Amino acid sequence: MTLSLWLITMCGLGLLAGSVVNCVTWRLPVMLQQQAQREWLQLSGLLPPEEKGQARFNLFLPRSCCPCCRSPLAFYHTIPLLSWLLLKGRCHRCQHRISWRYPLVELVAALCSGWIAYCWPPGETAFALALSTWLLIALTAIDIQHMQLPDLLTLPLLWLGLLTNLKGALVPLNEAVIGAVAGYLSLWLLFWGFKLATGKEGLGYGDLKLLAALGAWCGWQRLPTLLLYAAFMGILAVLLLRLAGRSMQDNPLPFGPCLALSGWWLLVTPSVT
Ligand SMILES: [Zn+2]
Repeated sequence: MTLSLWLITMCGLGLLAGSVVNCVTWRLPVMLQQQAQREWLQLSGLLPPEEKGQARFNLFLPRSCCPCCRSPLAFYHTIPLLSWLLLKGRCHRCQHRISWRYPLVELVAALCSGWIAYCWPPGETAFALALSTWLLIALTAIDIQHMQLPDLLTLPLLWLGLLTNLKGALVPLNEAVIGAVAGYLSLWLLFWGFKLATGKEGLGYGDLKLLAALGAWCGWQRLPTLLLYAAFMGILAVLLLRLAGRSMQDNPLPFGPCLALSGWWLLVTPSVT
């Protein structure tokens, strides 16, 4: 396969994956919230355990529609990037503005997949890296919007990392396993150190699981660099947001995107150590 064909294939796959990522980032937090509410109501005895007739909401149902006029989207309204451009960012019926977040996620997924194709030859390692990239984009988008890193995404990322390194594709398996444990433990210590010192929770448990997953991909030796880059990005983001006049007390900064970006860069760019 020539480099240009490989690049086009991966960018195309990235665009499609970006569309799936958009669907997951919109629907998964709602599904988790509904599930938590149902469990709470059942525990309180306010909801019979086998209540039926509720409208189903999952990754596929109900069909995507305009949030304003509720008109369902046809398949040609969901072509990644192209539909948004052709519709000029507005609903086909009521002209309600469609968020730029959707084409942005698709574009980022395509560009990141293209970067993997540029750095890695065609093969299962490149596809595994692309899959991890799409999971990281979904986690980043959900963490920015909901301050949440769902287990349904972090844990598959961890298993996929260990499976990829089963035959040492990126790092030897023992380094990957120690990386997963060390990733979790390092932030666990930081979490409790910060909590004992200040009485506040500076990190979420999702961050611990995300660093464990990244440790399974990168191996334990890259974890200090990964944390250093992530901390640097976090400080930079805080400074930029302060300059823009955002209060950090009202809007705490999610650390997941910093971990995801730093881990991704170390992971897919072979020359970075
Ligand atoms: Zn509409």
